[in-house]
Amino acid sequence: GRPKVGVVGGGIGGATVARYLAGLETIDVTLIEPNPTHVTCFFSNLYLAGFRSLASLTFDLQSLAERHRITFIRMRAVAIDPTAGTVVLQDGARVSFDRLVVAPGIAFKLGEIGGYDEAAAEIMPHAWVAGPQSELLRRQLESMEDGGLFIIAAPANPFRCPPAPYERASLVAYYFKQFKPRSKVLILDAKDRFSGQELFQDAWSRHYPGMIEWLPVQFIGKTKAVDAATRSVVTEGETFNAAVANVIPPQKAGLIAERSGLTDATGWCPVDPLTFESTLQRGIHVVGDAIIGGDMPKSAFSANSQAKACAFAIAAALTGSPRFPPHLFNSCYTFLAPDDAFTNAITFAPKDGKIKTVKTFISKVGESAEVRRRLAHQAVGWYSAFTADVFG
Ligand code: FAD
Repeated sequence: GRPKVGVVGGGIGGATVARYLAGLETIDVTLIEPNPTHVTCFFSNLYLAGFRSLASLTFDLQSLAERHRITFIRMRAVAIDPTAGTVVLQDGARVSFDRLVVAPGIAFKLGEIGGYDEAAAEIMPHAWVAGPQSELLRRQLESMEDGGLFIIAAPANPFRCPPAPYERASLVAYYFKQFKPRSKVLILDAKDRFSGQELFQDAWSRHYPGMIEWLPVQFIGKTKAVDAATRSVVTEGETFNAAVANVIPPQKAGLIAERSGLTDATGWCPVDPLTFESTLQRGIHVVGDAIIGGDMPKSAFSANSQAKACAFAIAAALTGSPRFPPHLFNSCYTFLAPDDAFTNAITFAPKDGKIKTVKTFISKVGESAEVRRRLAHQAVGWYSAFTADVFG
């Protein structure tokens, strides 16, 4: 029969691999994912600020599967048996594979912030996986009184989407400026520097003077605990009380990766950057946020780029189709206000077993308002084209 590939996770990385492998029409693809839809994290900050609906960020996986003749199993994978070549599902059933791709995204290191558990996340949402958590945070921002303090606790590197906590701060400040002008945003950061810092700080002084305060770890220490009852965030140095608290915990690879022996001591999955095959389990590939990506940031664009390289490597191994050296890219649009966005674009190549930056382009402080307006407009076009590539 035809070779069989299983894909665990129907997010950005998993959906892309499944689609590109199914498109070759020589391989049977089974996609395993508990959720019927995927809500994109990218553009979820626009939803929080009130200018994009969550429905416009939601994609149906069943119809994706039908269009591309992918077998969709709407269930969680609970274990992987690499020797037998099977995935064990939540109901105990087994799915067999010749190759497996695992793209489970992130899990949170809940032990690192005292008091931050699943119950606390219902009061102090992370909203770092889009869906109900984003809706909860939006409701809290809407019901917050004018003059309230919105705290974002931002994690240390590496984590999903390095500029996103600061994009969130910018867009929430935009919302406050219109509807709750006495409110403020406070970022408690577990780092001393962050991605796109000059661009953000320039934009904050132009659009939101006095509204966003950023406190780096050198001043306040790391966030070490929360108290959900009082909505307070406790750092090594101080305690801060919030009207609304957005606690983004430190992260690691999705739990199925850890349980299947795909992670190392860092909590992330080491892979061969030519094929995205795990260096710990032969025949199992990992893409997306869960991997040790070297210079590649944990982004949807990266996950999609890795997924295509992985799909072509699997096709080459299973069907003898030609091998290509992988072309790896990341390109992101980041919003500072609805009509002010910046961009970065990076190309990467494998070198000595690691993914290394080849070329970088990034927007500069001082670009004209017209340039920035155009980038914000392009970002909306990028969203449509990109989600059509992944889920179309
Ligand atoms: P995901 O897309 O999270 O998919 C993982 C999937 O695996 C999920 O559907 C999950 O249900 C499933 N899964 C997990 N465990 C199992 C299991 N045991 N069995 C079956 N399925 C399982 N990126 C950009 O490129 N541009 C941006 O502008 C951008 N903005 C962002 C803004 C915010 C606020 C955030 C939080 C992120 C942003 N990102 C952005 C990052 C981007 O969303 C992620 O990098 C991307 O989703 C990673 O894809 P992934 O496939 O690794 O994980």
